Amino acid sequence: MPSVAGSLWEHAAARPDAVAIRAGADAWSYARLRNASAAFGGELRAHGVRAGDRVLLVAPTVPEFVVVYLGAQLIGAVVITMNTMATTPEIDYVVGDSGTRLLVAWHEAREPAQRVADERALHLRVLGPGAVAEEGEPVHNPADLDRQSTAVLLYTSGTTGRPKGVELTVANIVDTARTFVEQLHLTSDDRCGTGLPLFHVFGQAACLNSALQAGCSISLLAPFEPVAMLEMIRRDRLTMVAGVPTMWNAMLHVAGDFGPDDFADLRMASSGGASLPGEVLSAFSERFGCTILEGYGLTESTAAATSNTAEQQRIGSVGRPLPASAVEIRDPEGAVLPAGEVGEVHLRGPSVMKGYWNRPEETAADLVDGWLKTGDLGRLEDGYLYIVDRAKELIIRGGYNVYPREVEEVLYQHPDIVEVAVIGVPDERYGEEVAAVITARPGAEVTPEELRVWAKEKLSAYKVPHLIRFVDALPKGPTGKIQKRALDWEGLTNAS
Ligand code: ATP
Repeated sequence: MPSVAGSLWEHAAARPDAVAIRAGADAWSYARLRNASAAFGGELRAHGVRAGDRVLLVAPTVPEFVVVYLGAQLIGAVVITMNTMATTPEIDYVVGDSGTRLLVAWHEAREPAQRVADERALHLRVLGPGAVAEEGEPVHNPADLDRQSTAVLLYTSGTTGRPKGVELTVANIVDTARTFVEQLHLTSDDRCGTGLPLFHVFGQAACLNSALQAGCSISLLAPFEPVAMLEMIRRDRLTMVAGVPTMWNAMLHVAGDFGPDDFADLRMASSGGASLPGEVLSAFSERFGCTILEGYGLTESTAAATSNTAEQQRIGSVGRPLPASAVEIRDPEGAVLPAGEVGEVHLRGPSVMKGYWNRPEETAADLVDGWLKTGDLGRLEDGYLYIVDRAKELIIRGGYNVYPREVEEVLYQHPDIVEVAVIGVPDERYGEEVAAVITARPGAEVTPEELRVWAKEKLSAYKVPHLIRFVDALPKGPTGKIQKRALDWEGLTNAS
């Protein structure tokens, strides 16, 4: 079977002029995207790239990213996508670990890739606007691939140890895109849009591939900026947007200049990547007149695992397992827990990765009999999954478990709080103390003491953040998720 490029071929044949990608004023029809990808696949072949070879792509969220991504998969090559912020050592590590055969870098991000290519005597293709192929014969048809062959290798940023390459197969990529299309009822009439980076699984497997599978258009914005995102919704009359909770929150805070007519076509927002505070969900739905459907997934599950749908939605949950997928909650010994009990979320299904590239031990530890250990704590109720928190972010204060997410949910209800991250800080008396790092609404004069008193009315005393610090901005990862591990409590100055 062909990888995701197969659907590109079908749509380009059926509706060659339909728009596949929009980026500002630039619009790529399905025919143009197919021709450019076919030509790029041919160029890769001319450089000796064959099925199974690894091609590393360092590019921002631009249409040319898609050309290379599809061009490589057309010939059965394995694509590795990396952040344009990646440094020389980071690229070098991935190239060495994966045995990359050829590098492609966006012209503005070429330098670190160039150093690695020079050092390792590899070919670097510098990508410019238009992604016009420089040599080779265009590929005529997408390669017929084994379903279990690896299509994409995505390196997780890795909180401990070195990053691992998550191997996603042709089947993972294609089946996941099909599932999203069905769940979200995407059709060729939809106009999707995102400010997520395409090198990350959410933007790539959930948004880009689903839009290509449905044969609709996808509008790309890079980097995400809330006003630009709202302008894109208005300009491209988007029907569906995908993003992480910090994006919805940021859009809400600048939406005042936009009227209801600007969002008239928007029917749905798909949220994932981090927990969606209830306050943000209800404010967004009201302001934009559309549903936010929250889903849950990881790089290791091709971004998919569970999702709320228009028909079946439970606010606060991340929805039910996707078709053909299953979720179990297990205790630390691996025993399956009954409904309602909190334990580690395990997943099985067509989106679960093949394994970690060249790492049989780590694969065997995280993938047992087809079940993926997620490292997330959750519970099932009536078949709906509730993510309680990441296991490694659980705070244990004086023997009591404090789930940061629960405290954050409460703090988000405070009118002066824009964003908040709750973390555990080492404490002599309690082992860990609950701490909140907050960005407040401009002009707000709320004090830590007021916040503590306010939180005490809603939370048991041991959950109340005793330590509170205000910052101008919280650290965010490349997808826009708040990065708690980048918070250096001691380095934050205005201690309270
Ligand atoms: P990094 O190492 O960059 O932090 P990551 O651990 O965030 O990467 P990803 O694969 O990008 O890795 O994200 C998957 C994780 O995101 C999940 O394990 C879960 O913790 C979190 N997540 C995803 N969707 C949700 C959601 N709807 N609610 C709560 N958490 C979520």
